[in-house]
Amino acid sequence: MKKVYLFAEGNKNMINLLGGKGGNLSEMKSIGLPIPEGIIISTEACKEYYKNERVLSTELKKEILEQIDKLEKLTGKSFEGEHPLLVSVRSGAPVSMPGMMDTILNLGMNDETAKKMIEIFKDEDFVYDLYFRFIQMFSEIVMGVEKELFFKLREKLKGRLSNLELINKAKIMYWEETGEFFPESAKEQLFMAINSIFKSWENERAKVYRRINRIDDSMGTAVVIQEMVFGNLNEKSGTGVAFTRNPSTGEKNIFGEYLLKAQGEDIVAGIRTPEAIERLREELPDIYEEFVKIACILEKHNKDMQDIEFTIEDGKLFLLQTRNGKRSPYAAIKIAVDMVKEGLLTKEEAIMKVDPAVLPQLLHGNFEPAALKNATLLGKGLAGSAGVAIGRVVFASERVHTKEMTILVREETSPEDIKGISLAQGIVTVKGGATSHGAVVARGMGKCCVTGCGDIKIDDIRREMTINGYTVKEGEFISISGYTGEIYLGKVGLTKPQFDDNLKEFVSWCKEIKRLGIRMNADTVTDAQLGKGFGAEGIGLCRTEHMFFQKDKIWTIRGMILSHDTDEVARALEKMHQLQREDFYNIFKVVENDVVIVRLLDPPLHEFLPKEQKDKEKMAEILGVSLEEIERRVRNLKDENPMLGHRGCRLAVTRPELYNVQARAIIEAGIQCKREGLDVKPEIMIPLIIGAKELLFIKKNLITEIEKVFEEQGMRIDYKLGTMMETPRACLLADEIGAEVDFFSFGTNDLTQTTMGLSRDDSVKFMPEYYENGILKVEPFATIDERGVGKLVKLAVELGRKNPHIEMGVCGEHGGDPKSIEFFEQVGLDYVSCSPFRVLVAIVAAAQSHI
Ligand code: ADP
Ligand code: MG
Ligand code: MG
Repeated sequence: MKKVYLFAEGNKNMINLLGGKGGNLSEMKSIGLPIPEGIIISTEACKEYYKNERVLSTELKKEILEQIDKLEKLTGKSFEGEHPLLVSVRSGAPVSMPGMMDTILNLGMNDETAKKMIEIFKDEDFVYDLYFRFIQMFSEIVMGVEKELFFKLREKLKGRLSNLELINKAKIMYWEETGEFFPESAKEQLFMAINSIFKSWENERAKVYRRINRIDDSMGTAVVIQEMVFGNLNEKSGTGVAFTRNPSTGEKNIFGEYLLKAQGEDIVAGIRTPEAIERLREELPDIYEEFVKIACILEKHNKDMQDIEFTIEDGKLFLLQTRNGKRSPYAAIKIAVDMVKEGLLTKEEAIMKVDPAVLPQLLHGNFEPAALKNATLLGKGLAGSAGVAIGRVVFASERVHTKEMTILVREETSPEDIKGISLAQGIVTVKGGATSHGAVVARGMGKCCVTGCGDIKIDDIRREMTINGYTVKEGEFISISGYTGEIYLGKVGLTKPQFDDNLKEFVSWCKEIKRLGIRMNADTVTDAQLGKGFGAEGIGLCRTEHMFFQKDKIWTIRGMILSHDTDEVARALEKMHQLQREDFYNIFKVVENDVVIVRLLDPPLHEFLPKEQKDKEKMAEILGVSLEEIERRVRNLKDENPMLGHRGCRLAVTRPELYNVQARAIIEAGIQCKREGLDVKPEIMIPLIIGAKELLFIKKNLITEIEKVFEEQGMRIDYKLGTMMETPRACLLADEIGAEVDFFSFGTNDLTQTTMGLSRDDSVKFMPEYYENGILKVEPFATIDERGVGKLVKLAVELGRKNPHIEMGVCGEHGGDPKSIEFFEQVGLDYVSCSPFRVLVAIVAAAQSHI
């Protein structure tokens, strides 16, 4: 199979084979743009190189030399010939991995070549500059010699030695550092360079980059060998980088930088400060005009904002690279909308251009890049919940106040921290991963959160923490980034949040196109208002227990759980009934004429019980029993394994009155709304079902209670009864269960735990090794495990659809994850439900997965 291609033999559909750089160079050549000639060694050759114990095979070398021959004919130049050919040897993977691999310029240079070039260019300084740069880059990239050594050498000897003497010193240094002579033969240089570029595919930083960005390790890199053009030749030469639109704001203006009399690396190296591209219009007006024209052509051709590298040699423009430019989320939306208005993209194409994962950033703002540069980095944890926050450090939830901007720093968070979390600007935990309690809750509330920052040591007594040598006392300011997991000392400056007209328009297109319904997970009026503002179509999950932690409600619940006196229990139940009815009424009113799915009580009762001594004492007083008695009752309710313990609908089997009271509150609130002219659609959801018999037992109780309410109120309303699907058994028996309910809602958090037998909170301890060793590709609590958990979902959907009226959705964390949404679209769910701050992500992802 052919492994080495001329530019003329490729195009941009061959990017998997030729890499992004090579494919795009070929494409540019084919549409007639000024591109220095070149050849491309394919990614297949790279794969073979790795199979072949990292040596270039004789056949490959032969094929390379044959194509070099053609390159020499095309350019009219040759290695070590009268008109010497110099080339760049450039890495280029199918997926852009900026800065991860290497490029060598001016290859082919040796003493003979230098002499001939001096005759041609009549400029000794220029030629020896090329030569020195080549030795430096080759040494660094092929042999791993520090490039600083060469900078120092040049600095030290500048003006004291002739050009040739300087080159000889550089070669001596090469010999001292590597123990080998600098290779003089152009072909030897070439093979060594190709070898090292292939090898750079497996360097540590490239591997880490691929792991983080989930890029396939087996893809390999292509190598581009391209005739050099010289931006450092004279004052009418230069090099630059430009975007066809502003990558930060999206504005339609060429945006970029250039340097005259310079080679490509100089801009990045930061030795000289580049000029803004507008100045080129004055310095080299013809070139500027030509560049703008080409930029336009490329943008139209590739239908996307382009990031272009160019070089000017003696007043002639060459393009060296183009690719779709990276951009801020803000720019991404503006560019997508503008391109539709310009007629360049259809709405569908524009929607596909935006990565939904970056959208939450638009709603939170971010740290100003300039401010970040001067900030003191204290440490780094995991990016738990997108956004940034600035506040005073507080180590206990009860010390978080609305008056102050605070950041709650905890060893780990528990449901009792809800209040603290809701009041704090941001959350930091020492333990736990990106799906730990703190992160889930923080995301739900749109709070920024950094989790698993193991470098922090909290000293609760002194109320301070130490982190990487710094000590931060309670009350001091820190700034945290939920995008990167970074924690800074003091206050870092912010950019503004931007929910603007472009975003609104973009989202409206997505809504037209998508099929899946997008609901929100909302437990409070505030959440519901927020999610509605972002475009949620009703509530897919309203968790009642979160209401219990508000205000003084918790004591009512505790009383109900711990009391043995039937009158006392009845009183507590009645109180709970009233509180919940009011809560539901308020939420129904926000949602107006849409669906609200209320999940009945789910966590083990033990979670609500007092843990601190003073709370237990208070409880004893309220119930009029001894402290020992309270402690005994609390102990009795404790599960050995709470995740699989006495929770979910198990509670309703042992204590039916709990669910009955909740159902009553829901229906009464619904009737009240209907009396006020609202058309609410309450749906009652039973969690953690394991089979149809269990369901029927509970359903019978609920219906009896609901009928009683209808009778008392002299009025009926429409309601639905459904189950969460979060145990494997329920999925396997979904036909039996489906026949008895109006809807299924896949609780994929618990379904992942129960299917995989992994606890979400504990798995962070060992999961990293699973990814490093390639045992698992993605985090199953963030993106649905399609092969395993997804198979159960698929099966349950098929079985459940035997009931033609059944409605199906998902309400786990996966409901806000783009990759998972694609899967839910495929298996034919009716809706996804996610936290208010993920609603936009879900709308866009749903549209994309339907296109
Ligand atoms: P990266 O992938 O890191 O951007 P490149 O292969 O694009 O590396 O090379 C970096 C820079 O080197 C280019 O932007 C360009 O300025 C310069 N360069 C590469 N090849 C050539 C060439 N054939 N002629 C002139 N300059 C080149
Ligand atoms: Mg480049
Ligand atoms: Mg659950």
